[in-house]
Amino acid sequence: MAEQQTVPAAEATPTPDQMIVPTSDFRRRVEAESKVKVGACYGCKKCSNGCPVTFAMDYHPYQVVRYVQLGLPERLENSKTIWVCASCQTCLTRCPNEVDLPRLMDYLKETVVKQGRDPAEKRTRLFHQLFLREVKARGRVFEGSLMARYMLKSGGMFGSEAFKNAKLGLAMLRRGRMKLLPAGTKDRRWIKDLKKGPGGDR
Ligand code: SF4
Ligand code: SF4
Repeated sequence: MAEQQTVPAAEATPTPDQMIVPTSDFRRRVEAESKVKVGACYGCKKCSNGCPVTFAMDYHPYQVVRYVQLGLPERLENSKTIWVCASCQTCLTRCPNEVDLPRLMDYLKETVVKQGRDPAEKRTRLFHQLFLREVKARGRVFEGSLMARYMLKSGGMFGSEAFKNAKLGLAMLRRGRMKLLPAGTKDRRWIKDLKKGPGGDR
């Protein structure tokens, strides 16, 4: 059966004064720095049709690649999509040209952070920062502390969200998906390397 093509809300037919003149500078820079073969994409949309989180995106994954090809960084810097991507690798598995979209999304997120811009999804960046802090402190994530800090800083300690989060935490404890006490890692040398790497101080 033929795949159903998704139609993104953000795509509309441009009027003549909205016509885009493509430039290749941005694509060349992104390809050189991220090592993602953006130019290999021919727009088949298999990535978007397999992505499980397009419902929460403002641009679909194939559009992210397209905007890099066209040289439109401003659309991506302000996009929710790069933060919503769950790095599940489904798009990469489906892509006939091996365009590494998860890596491209990471690269674009890093660019926003390096430029000191406000991300379109502040809570996702907060979660990433707290996750990294946990790894750097103990070498592994303690979900209890991660969720408590996240809820405190994101305002999730109040109202119905707090109740929902507490219920989720209890369910995780019951199923053994979360420990009561944190555990560290014996070999801490790689943690030092992690702190030296890209984004290590954040
Ligand atoms: S699946 Fe690959 S080639 Fe097809 S649109 Fe997506 S990135 Fe481009
Ligand atoms: S890696 Fe990101 S863009 Fe690709 S399918 Fe998963 S969530 Fe969608």
